[in-house]
Amino acid sequence: MLSVKEALEKILNCKITQKIKKVPILESLGLVTAEDIVSGDNIPAYNNSAMDGYAVKSIDIVGADRNYPIKLKLLKEDLPAGSVPELKIESGYCMQIMTGAPIPDGCDCVVMKEDVLKEGRDVLVFKECKSGENIRLKGEDIKKGNIVLQKNRKIYPGDVGVMASIGKSEILVYSPPLIGILTTGNELIEIDERLETGKVRDSNSYSLSAQAKELGINYKRYGIVGDEKEELKRKIAEVLGECDILLLTGGISVGDYDYVKEILDDIGAEFVFWRVNQKPGKPLAFLTYKDKFIFGLPGNPVSVMICFEMYVRPLVKRIMGDPQLLRRQVAAKASEDFKHKEGRTEFARVKLEKVGGEFFFKSTGRQGSGILTSMAEADGIAEFPDDLEIADKGREVKVYLLKDI
Ligand code: AMP
Ligand code: MG
Repeated sequence: MLSVKEALEKILNCKITQKIKKVPILESLGLVTAEDIVSGDNIPAYNNSAMDGYAVKSIDIVGADRNYPIKLKLLKEDLPAGSVPELKIESGYCMQIMTGAPIPDGCDCVVMKEDVLKEGRDVLVFKECKSGENIRLKGEDIKKGNIVLQKNRKIYPGDVGVMASIGKSEILVYSPPLIGILTTGNELIEIDERLETGKVRDSNSYSLSAQAKELGINYKRYGIVGDEKEELKRKIAEVLGECDILLLTGGISVGDYDYVKEILDDIGAEFVFWRVNQKPGKPLAFLTYKDKFIFGLPGNPVSVMICFEMYVRPLVKRIMGDPQLLRRQVAAKASEDFKHKEGRTEFARVKLEKVGGEFFFKSTGRQGSGILTSMAEADGIAEFPDDLEIADKGREVKVYLLKDI
């Protein structure tokens, strides 16, 4: 049976075709640029005031202080933001100026409003000001012709703001895959149906949709299909016609596997692997179909979510051009003994705590693959590798972070 590492390698070694698309900058948030973003402007475009105050010549107010104010004449013109100065600052004169307004000719610094007293057309300056003080220089933020965002960079809110400032309204990004989610099982009912003996509400399609949504990608739920060959085959073909990745849940554990496998064989999907030496999520299947990917996820609700984190997520990220394939990890120590069987990888749902700069984790409680509340409770997923002999108290392992802690 494949190890966790081998299974992930097999997935990431598959040929992927990255598609590039143009999107409005707000839609690029969380995606990765497929081009260098170059500024066609200097930002700011002109020297301007960083303060509300008075545009002066620094040489005129050398030595000014509280006891020896220096008197200047106020020019008629006012400079609110958005105006263009017409007058020039001559020696002995000053002009009122607001934050963001262009610096008039002849001025080399702006005295803050708080440091002057205005008496009619006279302005008493109480503080000297160095040449260049309170002036924001043309191009000091961004220079015309410079690359502001490199190709292959993940977009954060600050980047969106920068692109807006240089007038870039649309950019090229790597198109995230569309995920299609199909759930199988005769026992499954819809969210708003009444639970009866023998019935289970379909939670998997919701967990998976939420995981896709958290990644910032699009998904489509194709509903529930009973364990019925022709119907399932028809639905699978429909999803593969529309989506880049098919997530199929249920029907691949030992008992049912042949049946789903037969359908996937029929439609011409290429088998990459079935079964991974892990708990939960052992019966995971992975196939390709043309340039599309198919995950046969186990039906158990926890297994489904863990398999998404460990296998679906990295593939999605690879397609999106994001090098951060897996969740962020921390090294943490067990604060209690865990059950672990050497020879397979186990993923435990854990609560994390930071004590004196170190992370510690404890179990969320029952760890069965049907205990979905363990996923809701968990801050992270602790990985007990297959070569780990025992997961005893004090043992340090990798924990994948599911939440901000
Ligand atoms: P299976 O892999 O089809 O044998 O299913 C394993 C377990 O997961 C069974 O207890 C199913 O009832 C449960 N299960 C399967 N699909 C879903 C689903 N979509 N939502 C919640 N539980 C499910
Ligand atoms: Mg089933």
